Amino acid sequence: MAFGIYIHIPYCLQKCLYCDFSTTSLEDPISPEEYIQLIIKEISTRHQEIPEKTVDSIFLGGGTPSLLEGFFFQLLFKRFKDSGFVFSESIEISIEMNPETVSERKIEDYLKIGINRFSLGVQTFKEDFLKRCGRKHTPQHSFKALEILSKYHLNFSLDLIYALPNQTLDDLKTDLHQALEFHPLHMSVYELTVPSHHTLSQGRPIEPTQIEMRQVIQETLENHGLFKYEISNFSQKGYESIHNSLYWSQQDYWGLGVSAHSYLSPKRFWNPYHLPTYKKQILKHLKIKDLPPSQKEVLSLSQKLTELCYTSLRTTKGLCLDQLNPFGLQIKEMVLSKIKNLQKRNLITIKDNHVSLTPEGELISNQVFVELTFLPTEIEFSSS
Ligand code: SF4
Repeated sequence: MAFGIYIHIPYCLQKCLYCDFSTTSLEDPISPEEYIQLIIKEISTRHQEIPEKTVDSIFLGGGTPSLLEGFFFQLLFKRFKDSGFVFSESIEISIEMNPETVSERKIEDYLKIGINRFSLGVQTFKEDFLKRCGRKHTPQHSFKALEILSKYHLNFSLDLIYALPNQTLDDLKTDLHQALEFHPLHMSVYELTVPSHHTLSQGRPIEPTQIEMRQVIQETLENHGLFKYEISNFSQKGYESIHNSLYWSQQDYWGLGVSAHSYLSPKRFWNPYHLPTYKKQILKHLKIKDLPPSQKEVLSLSQKLTELCYTSLRTTKGLCLDQLNPFGLQIKEMVLSKIKNLQKRNLITIKDNHVSLTPEGELISNQVFVELTFLPTEIEFSSS
């Protein structure tokens, strides 16, 4: 079993229109210095409640963690180690970076403290689209950042967003080709998701174009040696993200900082979304066991089963049918009958005891996931 740590750094240079993460500006009354001290307190208060001590991945996410200097993260790493955590020899330490924050000095600073994976949020190389999304960085910032990452031969991932308002198939192809010129070892290509009333939902490519876009992404990236291992993630063999894979295989992780979520099977808990509330809880030395009911839950059997199907079917490896054994024979049979129904419609395939989405199923994956959502009543009925 692998174990990971997620650290949320909420500071950003802007608020992008499509973003619903917990973010704030550098001018927030809670400064980065104070915020890091809060996370240090969180480690001290709660570390004894975390059973796993060997850390396989740390993900510095946000927000824009790359707004902060390396010594802030060094303080956190030291506190983890002083609290009994051991970083595994092959630990992956990733940081999310916005292009305008990348410099050679900063990369060297991060490398020195052990950060070994860089995730660059390019989103698109087209200036109009960046502006429309409310982002401050320009294509020039992205090119410069990518030149630096390439120069240092780093393990880096490049993030793109597609299905943006007024984006054509050719725009997407241009984005993909410009990205591939820098030979990233990993790419995450996410479809823009906003509710129908959102300002960015106007003028988006129609459904058939979006489907074509997904096909173009996969074909283009695979032709350049980046293989799909999850619905939105592609990498060269051996460069899959350890941290994200941990989420998709129901492994434990501890999330620290404002709004961060944790999963220590079978419990899930999370910190407040708003920074002042987070600060209040941390200053009160609130332990995990004392979090209010609105910030924790024990996964029911139906939730566990739904999550297992949902997360494993997102990956190309798929769901191993043996993973259904702990749920009992009757539940396994009930799930299998749903799976066979989906198989008949060519939405999923079963091979070598593994179930995975077919290309057709992937195109309507949300629909497939709805059919594999289990209600408590169904589970009780099957297990009774
Ligand atoms: S930079 Fe990232 S985290 Fe910050 S507002 Fe934009 S999308 Fe959200």
